[in-house]
Amino acid sequence: MRSATSNSSRYSSNLSWITDTPFPAPIFASHGETGSNTSLRPGKNDADSPSGHADAGCRRLGVFGGTFDPPHAGHIAAVTAVLQQGVCDQVVFVPAGTPWQKAGRDDLSSPDDRYAMTVLLARELSACTVSRVEIDRPGPSYTADTLVLFRERFPDTELLLILGADAAIGLPTWHRAEEVLALAQLAVVPRPDSGTELLELAERLEGKASLFFVDMEPVDLSSTGVRCRLGRGERGLAGLPVPVEEYIRKRGLYGTR
Ligand code: ATP
Ligand code: MG
Repeated sequence: MRSATSNSSRYSSNLSWITDTPFPAPIFASHGETGSNTSLRPGKNDADSPSGHADAGCRRLGVFGGTFDPPHAGHIAAVTAVLQQGVCDQVVFVPAGTPWQKAGRDDLSSPDDRYAMTVLLARELSACTVSRVEIDRPGPSYTADTLVLFRERFPDTELLLILGADAAIGLPTWHRAEEVLALAQLAVVPRPDSGTELLELAERLEGKASLFFVDMEPVDLSSTGVRCRLGRGERGLAGLPVPVEEYIRKRGLYGTR
């Protein structure tokens, strides 16, 4: 992982552990729960539950929010990079219940379908779990609310908000953005063609946030692209885990029925 500019201390002075710490062995592999009926209530592996693994010795928790409609290999690559580089010990995916940035869109899959698909994807990964906190919270899904909750539940755990570059660039416009920056450090994962804007963001956040760039080859995949390809009748999509595609077809999502 590298800091936003060549002057790394500007962004990483309070996070020297990121480069000093070797790749941590996963504390344990954990996955959210799912089932054939995918009613999906909180389970023992849900990071929100009292027995969730995030409070079992995790020092650095990566919080990865999104719509995940559907989750794909770009998300896997992002999480794998932050775990392998020692940015976080564990990662919790947080599918948005009501993504305020996508308000007015009537083509979103249901929160429970998106949660179920995210759980299926997380099962492919070590040290990852999935939280229902935003799915179960009424109203717009604000990251600030989620971070407040995680801060309360895991007071001794560093929180790192994992963001793709597009999301990071939009962060200053988020609801209670300053609170978000106070509650979590930012781990920014590249997406194709995001370089210049990211440097502008780094300048803008100077002194206001701990902002890091995760070293990763950009992955040219998006949920929008996956939905389009499925809608056109493509099958066996590269970048879509088989269990997720099977779920999509079973549920007839994205025009697959
Ligand atoms: P959509 O096209 O519907 O917006 P998406 O692929 O951008 O979907 P989201 O659920 O919107 O996926 O994104 C959740 C988080 O994952 C965001 O921070 C986003 O930037 C990041 N992300 C998504 N795709 C990638 C990718 N290919 N590489 C790195 N980060 C990604
Ligand atoms: Mg997106």
